[in-house]
Amino acid sequence: MDLELVTIGTELLLGFTVDTNGAEIAQALAAEGARIVRRTAVADRPDHIREAVESALGRTGAVLTTGGLGPTRDDMSKRVVAELLDLPLEFDDTVWADVLARYARFQRTPAASNRSQAEVPAGATVLRNRWGTAPGLWIEHPYAESPRGTGLVIMLPGVPFEMRMLLQHEVVPRLAGRSDGAVIRSLTLRTTGIPESTLAERMGEIEREIAPLTLAYLPGLDGVDLRLSAWQLGPEEAQQRLRSAAGIIRSRAEGVIYGEDDDDLAALVLDRARAKRLRLGTAESCTGGLVGGRLTEVPGSSDVFMGAVVCYHNDLKTSLLSVPPELIQAEGAVSEAVASAMATGALTRLGIDAAVAVTGIAGPGGGSESKPVGTIWLAVALGGVVETRKSVFGGSRHDIRARAAQGALSLLYKSLPH
Ligand code: AMP
Ligand code: MG
Repeated sequence: MDLELVTIGTELLLGFTVDTNGAEIAQALAAEGARIVRRTAVADRPDHIREAVESALGRTGAVLTTGGLGPTRDDMSKRVVAELLDLPLEFDDTVWADVLARYARFQRTPAASNRSQAEVPAGATVLRNRWGTAPGLWIEHPYAESPRGTGLVIMLPGVPFEMRMLLQHEVVPRLAGRSDGAVIRSLTLRTTGIPESTLAERMGEIEREIAPLTLAYLPGLDGVDLRLSAWQLGPEEAQQRLRSAAGIIRSRAEGVIYGEDDDDLAALVLDRARAKRLRLGTAESCTGGLVGGRLTEVPGSSDVFMGAVVCYHNDLKTSLLSVPPELIQAEGAVSEAVASAMATGALTRLGIDAAVAVTGIAGPGGGSESKPVGTIWLAVALGGVVETRKSVFGGSRHDIRARAAQGALSLLYKSLPH
């Protein structure tokens, strides 16, 4: 089924609050076959809330709102929807008992304004909120302008935790009851080290071949994710089509795909090293420890990862990693020779089996014609062999450093035996 989402709250429009509810709801509902076809954000203004819900009902017939269910003056969603559907608000003793019980638990007494939270539009189903005081509402009501003649309005609180709990425990089971068994499923293939346009060229006429599945290119700092989606199919057919489409993509993107869905390259590096009992370390200049940070963020990394040497200043490249000062003088700190020397230096000084080194120009200053901002030299030393790679990354200083860290993990991943 199709639904529209209306997020209510002036803070969303001012940008003080990021609409995380919108993303969470869309993901949770897609898994149930319910598709969010449009999202609207409105301020805490009755005329704007009313207009948004009214047009969503007229277009799609079903709308889910979040926000504006609290006890304060700026919380007016319930009243507005009740007026729109011409439903009187009735005091609900069960909801009031829930509110009182919750206050008692925290040894507080409710304010007079809290009574408004127990008012429910006539005929609405209350979605009991065990995690806060504002209950959710499920309102099915004849609505002439709706494409189905009936309007469905689901109202949830804005507080993300309460919204999430009500969504899981109250909304998803009710929607599953109405579903025709179709689902929306996605599978993401994660690539790194290849620009979006080159990747698209390699994919060729893929969209036609995988239809009715769709393919989205999602570039980010870790690389380009390829997200396949199956819409409104049965779960088994969706799964089988996703698998076969993923097979086509894998054959065309040979060498640049490192994982699926939430796979983290750092975790995959650690797995590879663990399988061969290899101890890892990093030698980092421009990334200042980011590569080590990525690796140590993974639980259980300590059995494989020994440590990082952050040698930002050239003197430390020499004193900690034995990089000859003449080499730095002759080639520059950002060079293939220095990256290699950093990696081999780390190998001996840290007593490890594989080392990755990063040196580069993160900017915004310090670039030159031959070595522009974003120039990164990477080196991996392993088993007497040193592999190097040069990249020139774009973006801000933050972006360049993040891309360099991902690039270092990628080179290390490819160099590790498997
Ligand atoms: P409300 O239910 O309108 O009283 O919202 C309570 C709080 O929930 C707000 O102060 C926001 O911090 C948060 N909130 C409301 N809407 C959203 C949203 N769409 N995404 C994330 N947080 C939200
Ligand atoms: Mg609000």
